[in-house]
Amino acid sequence: MSETDGDAATRLSLETRLAGLRQPALDRATTWPYSEGELGRFAYQRYDHPLAAEVERVLGELEGGRALLFSCGMAAIAGVVLTFCKPGDTVAVPFGAYVSTSHLISDELSRFGLRLLEFDQTGPPPEDAALVWLEPCSNPMLSFPDLDDSIARAHAGGARVAVDATMLTPVLLRPLEHGADFSVHSATKLLGGHHDLVLGVASCARDDDAERLFQVRRLVGLIGSPDPAWLLMRSLKTLPLRVERSSATALELARRLQGHSAVESVNYPGLGDKIAARYVSAFGPLLSFVVRGGAVAAQTLERSCELIENATSFGGARSTIESRSRWEGDRVPPGLLRLSAGLENVDDLWRDLERALASL
Ligand code: PLP
Repeated sequence: MSETDGDAATRLSLETRLAGLRQPALDRATTWPYSEGELGRFAYQRYDHPLAAEVERVLGELEGGRALLFSCGMAAIAGVVLTFCKPGDTVAVPFGAYVSTSHLISDELSRFGLRLLEFDQTGPPPEDAALVWLEPCSNPMLSFPDLDDSIARAHAGGARVAVDATMLTPVLLRPLEHGADFSVHSATKLLGGHHDLVLGVASCARDDDAERLFQVRRLVGLIGSPDPAWLLMRSLKTLPLRVERSSATALELARRLQGHSAVESVNYPGLGDKIAARYVSAFGPLLSFVVRGGAVAAQTLERSCELIENATSFGGARSTIESRSRWEGDRVPPGLLRLSAGLENVDDLWRDLERALASL
């Protein structure tokens, strides 16, 4: 991962390479002098800056493409849609995936002629889309597409394909290796991992796409700032360990919840999703479950947790839980809770959940 490591570095395991990343200096400059009247590597922070370039070098290598840093996950999503769609285009977004992706298209970009088509990503994508969006381990319903098949079908129909891999990170899934055109992340979640930064990333398989996306990022002003990028560099050193630990904890909690009498159903691809198991060796920190008693029971449970924080967002060191109907209304079952496993001891987390479930 460091520029001087050469071939030896590529033979090292991912966790060793990331742990060895050198922390860059925090350069907050907004402007850099011309050199004898000529533009240098950096000119103006809104265009590009050294921390963004360093994050992009590391993530681009991980993803196998050209990574671009954005101010948040939604900025990366908006950047991809604005750059690669035109009036009249249909954007196909999975049901039960991140709700703001759908809202961006239906509530705002429809004014510019885009059409939202929601579909079940466990089946084939719609045929008439210009951009097919996929979200493996979707938030919050945890569905998982057959990536190779969906991407091949979308391409055969002339669509571009973006995969929001926020839940898995490049440690578990590298969508560009499966033929996706774009891989998108909310780095606010597991990549950042500490609930202390907001950033996004979009990686492109093709250089010409990356150039176009860079141009839109620069004109609209979507780049992430140096301070959170510095924090993200710190976080990447521990990414494989955090992904492994939080995924193992999520799987164990999902299994235990499945056997609890107050729980109607549990959504987690690690509980036997054969398609997901073909693509990933672990399934990320996020799971969701439905409690008996609907919205009232879900709200009682979230407030009864003590160790697990009753808060939105996910992918941090501290576990979080929330009833999702407050955000998504009838798009989700009223008794749905979303739980993000953090880095705490799994038995401590289970005791907290069991006690909260007993209060129902
Ligand atoms: N993608 C997914 C799957 C998400 O869950 C989120 C936020 O929750 C986003 C994108 C948007 O990320 P951000 O909040 O960093 O804009």
